[in-house]
Amino acid sequence: MINGKDILSEALDLKSFESIGHKLIELLRDDMKLSQESIDHKTIDWLNPDEQLSLWKEDFLSKEPAEAIDLFKKIMDKSIKLSRKGYIGHQVAPVYPISVLSSALSAYLNNGMAVYEMGMSGNAMEKIIITDLANRFGLPNSATGFVTSGGSLGNLTALLAARAIKLNRYPDLVYNKLAVMVSEEAHYSIERAMIVMGLPLDNIIKIKSDSDFRINIDNLETGILTAEDKGLQIFCVIGCACSTSTGAYDDLKALGDFCKLHDLWFHVDAAHGGPAIYSDRYKNLLIGIEQADSVIMDFHKMMHVPSLSTAVIFRTAAHHALTFYQDAKYLWDDQSSEEWYNSGKQTFECTKPMSIIHIYTALRIYGEMFYEQHINKLYGLATDFAKSIKEKQNFDLLCTPQSNIVCFRFNNGSDNLNDLNKIILRELTLDGRFYLVSTKAGNDFYLRTSIMNPRTELNDLELLLLKINEIADKK
Ligand SMILES: *Cc1c(COP(=O)(O)O)cnc(C)c1O
Repeated sequence: MINGKDILSEALDLKSFESIGHKLIELLRDDMKLSQESIDHKTIDWLNPDEQLSLWKEDFLSKEPAEAIDLFKKIMDKSIKLSRKGYIGHQVAPVYPISVLSSALSAYLNNGMAVYEMGMSGNAMEKIIITDLANRFGLPNSATGFVTSGGSLGNLTALLAARAIKLNRYPDLVYNKLAVMVSEEAHYSIERAMIVMGLPLDNIIKIKSDSDFRINIDNLETGILTAEDKGLQIFCVIGCACSTSTGAYDDLKALGDFCKLHDLWFHVDAAHGGPAIYSDRYKNLLIGIEQADSVIMDFHKMMHVPSLSTAVIFRTAAHHALTFYQDAKYLWDDQSSEEWYNSGKQTFECTKPMSIIHIYTALRIYGEMFYEQHINKLYGLATDFAKSIKEKQNFDLLCTPQSNIVCFRFNNGSDNLNDLNKIILRELTLDGRFYLVSTKAGNDFYLRTSIMNPRTELNDLELLLLKINEIADKK
């Protein structure tokens, strides 16, 4: 007790829990309403990092305890709003309302997942969702896997397994001569994984992409020769489905055939583009994924659940059993088995969020058609947007989108297009209605949009192009 106040009882008080809870739901509902209404509500209310820091310092040092709902509101006001129609930036998803609610449930349950008792329903749900996903991808019945926190960790996990298998089969291989082969468009988490594995970045054999930013299949054989010249042994070939920068899907069938021919581990990084498997219209982009030895796919990107939640799938159970085998006597009785229900045996994580609850509830409540419609809407909108950009003067489209990622730039023929487009991006962020990002193609600076929000419509994107013209006119 401090000053006669029983704070513990206050923190456990159910009346106040209910009252704050109702207010929070109302706050979120009202904000989602704004998001649905019009493009004019700001996505981002830009504040520079130093101002942001002082604001929160002042808040934290305040002598008065915060009212919960005021604090929640303040946090919301100072954060980017992913639900706005103008949010077309990174691949982090605006979640559907049902996931807001399943988040409250998972926070309350806080099941740690590592051992069966600490995640009884969660571990079973993981098993079911992973098996279902492996079936959709056309992997054999032996396929198995788990959920981990993020695609970066997923890629590292898969590469560790690939390396363990290679070293198990060829124990004489020199450890730091092991290499991977991947498109130059691959996500930087592959480089991170190599660093974590203690392998030189020089051991990444990068294959040039074609004009559509897909790995150039004709250069694969040369890649092997390059590796041999450097005295390297490739242990894994990685396909992008799709690439982060431009959303291009590599030809997985050709990559799979190549790996079979050369007896190489085939990993597919489907962090962003794997969910196309739910769409009859787009699933052909993933043809060849059935040949993969390992696949990762983020639920928190194109399946729009809260971050982080990533599927890691292996072609056969034996493949990843080697990766994480270790003693942890206080956690598991039987050190030799590979029980699916003790998920801590299979992931980096010990305590792990019960993130599976979000994808399980979304699928269970709305069914697989939900994701078919969702993918069709977002990929379809990107196609329409790209068409509109192509038809306009003063705009260059970088490439025809294969997914929901569209890259373009303003081009009025001026000498310094890079600086002009940088200024445009900056002005758009300050305006706050639209949030987009950038990418580079060679030395050229491009605006990059990921059409992530099912609330966004083509006319919102037309307004973006008008706004860009307007900004450029003033320069
Ligand atoms: C986003 C992304 C990753 C990394 O996933 P995180 O969940 O952000 O760690 C890996 N690969 C690709 C292709 C991606 O788009």
